[in-house]
Amino acid sequence: MPELPRHVTVTAAALALAARGPARLALTPRDLGDLGVVDGAPGTDVLLLPAPPGFDWRLDDPGPSLVGWPEGDGVRVHRVAPGGPPGERVGATALLAGSAASARVQGVLGTDAAARKTVAVLGLGSGGSFITRELAKAGVGRFLLLDHDRLEPGNVSRHECGLGDVGRLKVNAMRDVVLAHHPAARVATSDLRVEGGTLDAVRAFVAEADLVICATDNRESRLLVNGLCLAADVPMILGGVHRRAYGGLVQRVIPGLTPCYQCFVQALPESAADNEISSATSAARVSYTDREVAPQPGLSTDIVPIALMMAKLALVELLTGEAEVFDSLAADLAAPIHQWINRREFAHAGLAPLGNGVDGQTVLRWYGVLLNRLPDCAACGKPQWQEGDADPEVEALFAADPRPPSG
Ligand SMILES: [Zn+2]
Repeated sequence: MPELPRHVTVTAAALALAARGPARLALTPRDLGDLGVVDGAPGTDVLLLPAPPGFDWRLDDPGPSLVGWPEGDGVRVHRVAPGGPPGERVGATALLAGSAASARVQGVLGTDAAARKTVAVLGLGSGGSFITRELAKAGVGRFLLLDHDRLEPGNVSRHECGLGDVGRLKVNAMRDVVLAHHPAARVATSDLRVEGGTLDAVRAFVAEADLVICATDNRESRLLVNGLCLAADVPMILGGVHRRAYGGLVQRVIPGLTPCYQCFVQALPESAADNEISSATSAARVSYTDREVAPQPGLSTDIVPIALMMAKLALVELLTGEAEVFDSLAADLAAPIHQWINRREFAHAGLAPLGNGVDGQTVLRWYGVLLNRLPDCAACGKPQWQEGDADPEVEALFAADPRPPSG
């Protein structure tokens, strides 16, 4: 008999099969045999019963080496030999679908409001992927993911997806990440690039969303998304990392209330231009003259603080007034722009070291940046686009979702 695993996970699909009657299922070894997975595939290794067996139950089947049955919200698994009763107990975990995974979040927030929210994430690079995963963990119910890129080996040191996802469209890989953390989430994806030619499709995504995360890596696309969000009256959070990720800025745009991205670009052109160039593609786009531009990527540890602030602002925007834990934070994060410095470089080379206990600005702290709307802003000074209704093509993407709705 092969070595039996020290722990077994049993999926909801396998338990559903057993609920209809005793099921003979396959056991897939993982982690060099430390873990066995019972996912509902037919086989002879495991006998799953619909209910606990009686005290005189004996195995009358020569195949299975494990027998299990539902117990409370979980599952109980024992070793078993032909003709014998359940023997030594084996550690087991039931992988329940959907709501069980997010119940803990609901407990923290005191509401399931996040489940009713739709977030569009435009751009799934290092920052966008981190934010998406955080919002999935926080229980956001619907995601609209848009990115035209495929994951490359050079991305994985900064991305939520690893080498196993190289070659995949980032939207598909991130869909799996969302569902791994929040199985009840609905995810619609698009592999379009945000540019003038795709404006109608991006507008449809924006119109469907309660909040837009703009995590694209160039000014042109950010200005397009800015205009679409203003027209559709949808709040937007965008963030940027400075050169070599020595710091970054996060902006929250609430149409008609806070300065928009165009206001920011007009008011603080140097900050707006001080963008990290994270890939050869971005470098090529910047070097439209004969100027040599090299990629200057930062470390993930320098990007995550910026992305984490964006995720936090997203939750504040979505849940203020619905989840008490965000009410005071909303007052703290009222500034339209927040700045973070990772290292004392460039414009911030003269800051005093953090350890000196100074009162002035230091690294590794957030600072609110005050900025007013510009009355002559080309984007929020006057509406440019007509607001559209919910788009039937986006609705169709959700309708095509093959998974059954989970309860
Ligand atoms: Zn503006």
